Amino acid sequence: MENTVLSVVVPMYDEEAVIPALVARLRPVLDGLGVDYEVVAVDDGSADRTANLLFEHGRTWPELRLVRLRRNSGHQAALTAGLQRARGDWVVSIDADLQDPPEAIAEMLRVAREQGLDVVYGVRSDRSTDSAFKRHTAGAYYRLMRRLVGGDVPAQAGDFRLLSRDVVEVLKKLPERAPVYRLLVPSLGFASAEVAYARERRAAGETKYPLRRMVALAWDSTANFSAAPLRIATWLGGLAFVACLALMVFGVVVWANGTVIPGWTSLFLAVLLLSAVQLICLGLLGEYVARIYRTVQDRPTFHIGFDSAAGEAGTDEVRSVEIPQQRAAALP
Ligand code: UDP
Ligand code: MG
Repeated sequence: MENTVLSVVVPMYDEEAVIPALVARLRPVLDGLGVDYEVVAVDDGSADRTANLLFEHGRTWPELRLVRLRRNSGHQAALTAGLQRARGDWVVSIDADLQDPPEAIAEMLRVAREQGLDVVYGVRSDRSTDSAFKRHTAGAYYRLMRRLVGGDVPAQAGDFRLLSRDVVEVLKKLPERAPVYRLLVPSLGFASAEVAYARERRAAGETKYPLRRMVALAWDSTANFSAAPLRIATWLGGLAFVACLALMVFGVVVWANGTVIPGWTSLFLAVLLLSAVQLICLGLLGEYVARIYRTVQDRPTFHIGFDSAAGEAGTDEVRSVEIPQQRAAALP
């Protein structure tokens, strides 16, 4: 596989149930493209037999490459690992559960090549198979992100997209610790197009995005792209200042009238309210400081434990080394 044209990155976490269906559907599509390709299956530290199954399928499907992370590092980190390892001129990322139809990959590649584009987004035109809860939370998420990042973020574009080598190289050099690719890629401003598809039902297995992870993704997205939460502190401070001016006038008037003893309730409430506001603002500030701290520490967000293509021509030797994200990107 000297000149890999297309890399297909598939992050997988406990996806053993879906692997047979995935292989059966993905392989004919990719074989039919008529280009050299590789599938970079990133096993995100699964506890089930995902890695074993992938390895087994790799015996009969030489283009299937297994990259195993040492522990569960999260969807976006698994994508990062896949982008770093991918060798193709074009890189497609796709979910393992067949909610994104592999058939659309052919269309994406054709559009990108014909129009000379760097990015092609898969956009969900129909989410009727998702639960009502998922659709509503996703709708709110994309509305918020369009406001924060700007109008360039395609609505309903998840992590099914095609990137050119140029874009991948730019992404690899970014020092972000918690990248959210669906916002990061549009914010780079490369020439792009959209390919619409209907979101299908998960082919097998369960969702790996419980509410906790959805909230974490939404907060990462917000904090990565906007300092607006910090501005809340300034506004609250302004409000409190105006209220305090009024209270000072009130205090002087009451003192001049000589009735000063009652007033425990108002004092008590003012102390409660102001300290709560201060704690909230400190917490928000702390979130951003923590992000700076994590970036400065430069700890890897994942460790690659195994790469079935290690040692092949064009790949650096990795069997059991740990590659910090940033340092790897800085290698010559
Ligand atoms: N995933 C992953 N690591 C995780 C969680 C999820 O690699 O910690 C993968 C998962 O295997 C799937 C993709 O990310 O290929 C999207 O996850 P899922 O389909 O569960 O999310 P949903 O479609 O329900 O939002
Ligand atoms: Mg899914």
